[in-house]
Amino acid sequence: MWLRCNVMKKLKTLFTILIIITLFSGLAYRSINKNPQTEETRFLFDTVCSITVFSPSAGREISAAFDAAAEIHRLTDFYDKASDVARINSAKANTPVAVSRETAEIIDLAQKIHTDSKGAFDICLAPVSQLWNFKSQAPAIPQKPEIEKALELCKNSKITVDMTDFTVAKNHSDAQIDLGGIAKGYAADAAARVLEEMGVKAAILDFGGNIVVVGKNPKTSDGKWRIGLQTPFAPTGEYSKIVEIQSGSTVTSGTYQRYFEADGNMYHHIIDPQNGFPAQKEYKSVSISAQSSALADALATAVFVLGKKDGAALAEKWGAVVEFL
Ligand code: AMP
Ligand code: MG
Repeated sequence: MWLRCNVMKKLKTLFTILIIITLFSGLAYRSINKNPQTEETRFLFDTVCSITVFSPSAGREISAAFDAAAEIHRLTDFYDKASDVARINSAKANTPVAVSRETAEIIDLAQKIHTDSKGAFDICLAPVSQLWNFKSQAPAIPQKPEIEKALELCKNSKITVDMTDFTVAKNHSDAQIDLGGIAKGYAADAAARVLEEMGVKAAILDFGGNIVVVGKNPKTSDGKWRIGLQTPFAPTGEYSKIVEIQSGSTVTSGTYQRYFEADGNMYHHIIDPQNGFPAQKEYKSVSISAQSSALADALATAVFVLGKKDGAALAEKWGAVVEFL
């Protein structure tokens, strides 16, 4: 009996010590990690992309998410001869090109937005965009006859995508596609999906102005995310407006994102398929909030070209919210 009592006493003391150690280590951990988050950046789609996960050691998850985005970049890179886009561009007329499911999905959505925007969003504008060459160190205004010739080709170009066997065909050997107005959004969606599948509870992705959120914002009482809309031409991080989203994505297309100045005028990278010139508007940026970032990306470009009235109607049709700055 005496022996049992003594063992019980010792066990009790041990148990109490264990509880105290656990409590103290918990408190110490919390005071070191007041703001437990992991953030990493990578250069993709010609821009700085960042992923922030609100947990202290999410390096593996972020790396896997970036790999998924990099894969979309590889498939859609206009300049990489091995990409799906380059293989479509070098294909002969009426010859189906086998592509990845991802490329097929991007082109399929692009075609839907092309139809609904009455041609304002047009991936076949590549021959015109190439003439403007905004990525060059010394971009210049192309000659008008050159633009007219390229535009004629764009207007006659037709792309057919088969969603059962994932093939893409063009009606004209010279037709060229450019997924620059949609692929970054699709990649951001893909990266966010990887984070979710790996169990990440809260994260925010910023792919050069394409924002995607995962889960609830741990820093606000209502769990909503507040996205700052960049003031056009102001230093990065200066915001004109804040939009609140619970989930999904907010994407901005703006003249200030890529442009050059010549002859006292500004020429930016969002092309109006009506005339082959940068779309002339009274606003400088369009931001779209929608559930999918690929959709928001395509809509932001399309709405920019369409203008306030028709653009707002297009956004509404797709259940998206639009802001003009
Ligand atoms: P974003 O930054 O999403 O507005 O996309 C602009 C990019 O999309 C440009 O750099 C071009 O590669 C491409 N682009 C330009 N104008 C159009 C257009 N009207 N329709 C589809 N893509 C376009
Ligand atoms: Mg876009």
